[in-house]
Amino acid sequence: MGSISIRFYAELGDFLPVERRGREFEHVCPGRDSVKDVIEGLGVPHTEVDLVLVNGEPVGFDHHLSEGDRVSVYPVFEALDISAVKSVRSQPLRVVRFAADVHLGRLARYLRLAGFDTLYRNDWDDRELAETAVREHRIILTRDRGLLMRSIVTHGYVVRETLPRAQLVEVLGRFDLWGLLRPFTRCSVCNDCVEPVTKAEIVSELPARTARYYQEFWRCTGCGRLYWRGPHYRSLMKLFSPDAGPSDFRRLSDPRLTELPPGEQRHSDECEYSHGDDTP
Ligand SMILES: [Zn+2]
Repeated sequence: MGSISIRFYAELGDFLPVERRGREFEHVCPGRDSVKDVIEGLGVPHTEVDLVLVNGEPVGFDHHLSEGDRVSVYPVFEALDISAVKSVRSQPLRVVRFAADVHLGRLARYLRLAGFDTLYRNDWDDRELAETAVREHRIILTRDRGLLMRSIVTHGYVVRETLPRAQLVEVLGRFDLWGLLRPFTRCSVCNDCVEPVTKAEIVSELPARTARYYQEFWRCTGCGRLYWRGPHYRSLMKLFSPDAGPSDFRRLSDPRLTELPPGEQRHSDECEYSHGDDTP
């Protein structure tokens, strides 16, 4: 083939050398390449891309490019009204579920505490992670863009931040999940849901001080860990606020957060049977 003109919009520039960000540039394609081949050849995982226009017309990833084509590549959540044209991915994930790579254990724990079903195994290689994520319709979270370039992967995101708390805020913002938060409904250790238990049922398992000061308890339906609203509860609630500073306290007193619907209970991540480093 020959050369094309291509431009990557918004945060897709994160994957490009500085001189190629936010502008159209020429690219010489070695063969009869598909849109996906060209995009990934330039370093951008296809999972980050939601819409590709060739000469102004939307195309799929398998579209083959021709000499002189002008290609515009938009990210998944570009703040641009592209609803009128079709995206490259016809089936959005209806339920937000994640699979985190081996380097994102702390992020996985935060996401679970926020209520999101997040698979994490520190003994999986990239292939196992990719296959499981696809089979279970999970969005892969990774710091390794190469993982997302695997052909079977359809939904994934390269986490830019390095600190776990910043990563949580990044992911919640990127996928617009603030309205879907269900803090403290899921076990941070095993990812199963928790359910309320009466104090009478479990009091014999509690440290004396905990039994004295706390009245509400939850148990993980998977691993059996007990949870209560310990000292970390408040700091974690602040973490789940999209605001910062004094507004955290407003949110903590927000009835929408403190009066959950029946069956939806919160709990602290404090847990008798977890070690100190279990608390993010
Ligand atoms: Zn558990």
